[in-house]
Amino acid sequence: MLIILRKGCTVRRLGFTPLPVPGADRTAICVTGNRGAVDASSLAHLPGVLECIPVTRPYKMVSREVHAESTIVRVGEVAIGGGEPVVVAGPCSVETEARTLRIAEEVKAAGAVMFRAGAFKPRTSPYAFQGLGREGLVTLRKVREQVGLPVVSELVDNADLEAMCEHVDLIQVGARNMQNYALLKRLAEARRPVLLKRGMSATLEEWLMAAEYLLAGGNGQVVLCERGIRTFDDHARNTLDLNVVPLVRRVSHLPILVDPSHGVGERDRVRPMSRAALAAGAHGLLIETHTEPDQAYSDGQQTIDVATLRGILGDIAVLKGLESMAAS
Ligand code: PEP
Ligand code: MN
Repeated sequence: MLIILRKGCTVRRLGFTPLPVPGADRTAICVTGNRGAVDASSLAHLPGVLECIPVTRPYKMVSREVHAESTIVRVGEVAIGGGEPVVVAGPCSVETEARTLRIAEEVKAAGAVMFRAGAFKPRTSPYAFQGLGREGLVTLRKVREQVGLPVVSELVDNADLEAMCEHVDLIQVGARNMQNYALLKRLAEARRPVLLKRGMSATLEEWLMAAEYLLAGGNGQVVLCERGIRTFDDHARNTLDLNVVPLVRRVSHLPILVDPSHGVGERDRVRPMSRAALAAGAHGLLIETHTEPDQAYSDGQQTIDVATLRGILGDIAVLKGLESMAAS
């Protein structure tokens, strides 16, 4: 149930959990914690109440029914969900300091506006490279300070949350942890921008319910990221579900990025799927990029080189031109 109040009005506790959603000329109160349907007639007559709207979706705060305006998440100077598509690029893992800084300089020169690299890597094999850990976070901080790009990195353990908040601008929750509710609850309290990747076999509803944990816990700075799902087919590492992009934009106000790298798993298909993602309405791309992709510490097979990244940024300029032609 969503209660729309006249501006300046508030509600007393009525035994529910009220979550205020402030807007320009009205305040909406999202009522949760109720068992069974809320009786609108008991609320509609209260002073200051303009309207009571039943929310039909299981996700509330994430839904456009509750929050009609699109959310823009700001990370440093970068606005995700605003007009311009954003490109976030970098290697899968943080590598040596010198190489990481060099990659960051090059992706910035190509036009990326944010740098992404994992310091803590959730790997399928316990024998695979697990990331440089805290040492990697220090390198990311140097990228932010010396190269001047905001940095994105994945949190896999709540024990590292404080260090992540200190060194990282946008905290990634990876596919494997999308439903790690302990992690989501702490990230809600941390009030830092979060990049929430879709779980590899998560339905749209499960994904948005995971985002709901963040918003219900008080953190509205959430960016969704489609990264491919498991299907029967094995021609790609995952099946990039671009179908979900316009749907997410319809049912939710949160911005959505697409990660074509994990979505296809082979570098030769990253550029065409980047174009497709933007044409489908993605607010930006997350692309694994390296100066020497074959030398990457992890996910080299799906990592593009900087020349290909430049090509994708050129494609974006062309797509923008087509959009303005269509609008004129
Ligand atoms: C990654 O971004 O490097 C990663 C591990 O992605 P995902 O969680 O989507 O598998
Ligand atoms: Mn990776």
